[in-house]
Amino acid sequence: MTDQKPIREIRISPIVPSESVLVATARSMRPRKDEAPAPRDTRKHVAQCPFCKGNESMTPPTVSAWPSEADWAVRIVENLYPVLGEDSPSGNLVFGLQQAIEGYGRHEVIIDHAQHGIALHEMSEAHLAGLLGVYRERMEQLYRSDNRIRFVLVFKNFGPAAGASIAHTHSQIIAMPVVPENLYNEVFHSRNHHRKHHQCIFCSLIDEALTFEATIYDRESGRIRRRISVGQYVVERGERFIAIKPFASRYEWEVHILPLRHQSSYLDLTEDDRRDLARVLRRTMARLDAVIGGAQYNYFLHSLPRGEDYDDCDASYHWHLEICPRTSIPTGFELGSGLFVTTISPEQAAAQLRAAEI
Ligand SMILES: [Zn+2]
Ligand SMILES: [Zn+2]
Repeated sequence: MTDQKPIREIRISPIVPSESVLVATARSMRPRKDEAPAPRDTRKHVAQCPFCKGNESMTPPTVSAWPSEADWAVRIVENLYPVLGEDSPSGNLVFGLQQAIEGYGRHEVIIDHAQHGIALHEMSEAHLAGLLGVYRERMEQLYRSDNRIRFVLVFKNFGPAAGASIAHTHSQIIAMPVVPENLYNEVFHSRNHHRKHHQCIFCSLIDEALTFEATIYDRESGRIRRRISVGQYVVERGERFIAIKPFASRYEWEVHILPLRHQSSYLDLTEDDRRDLARVLRRTMARLDAVIGGAQYNYFLHSLPRGEDYDDCDASYHWHLEICPRTSIPTGFELGSGLFVTTISPEQAAAQLRAAEI
């Protein structure tokens, strides 16, 4: 990979044009200290862990369990330290220009697996399909439970580098009365794209990833500078899902998984979809784990929010799972400029992921 010419270019997100990343591959050649991330806990069972089997009394009460409460494989409990909670009588708090929206909502923990330190790619596909079904079912229940809920976010922090405070593998689900800005931007820009081109931009990007080749010419000499086979962004492909390395990835090993056929909401997921998604997800995580050497990551589901503003977005928005492995800490430059820097090009990263032996 090192024989390739260093790249230094700013790439604009095709979905949200206000988001861009700086791909600067020469930076990875800078000498740097070996900073291995804090190791993650790989034990199978921990006597004092509240999420381990047999310690159910140490957590808040069970919200639901799959397949059954007595012999659970996945279990949902209330979060002991919720970021959103029950109604506050005060309503919206307004302080001059700074407005705080009332913190109504629900925050729950999904214990992904009974085994304490198991990584996602070590779980069986049948288990993963079940877990993906639990995400969908709980999401639906939360939307149904209160019509003020605008968005239900499912996410997972895995490993200390990703901010997981409890080592036992778990996901979280937050039902909120507002739509987060990054999601709003995706919905807004993809709707504009649809109005102009009568196409879902995510579907177009998938088609492009599967078929296109492009040639980049040097502006002055007119000679070929680089040939891009857009297929080189594909990391993993199933019958119904595809894992893609985004052209403008914020994180070096960031991968998105999308349904091949258009679906706007995760609630549209069928049983056959779940099985294929489980397979694509497990294989993608195995590739990441093999290449990074123990992936610590955040992942989250972006699905169409609820509300009048989103009623006409069924054809333009396309739900997806964003996986963001954490291999470096954002610096002042990134926080100050909002411009994420990656030191490996998405094309090289995708090639390495595809080549990984799993
Ligand atoms: Zn545990
Ligand atoms: Zn689509």
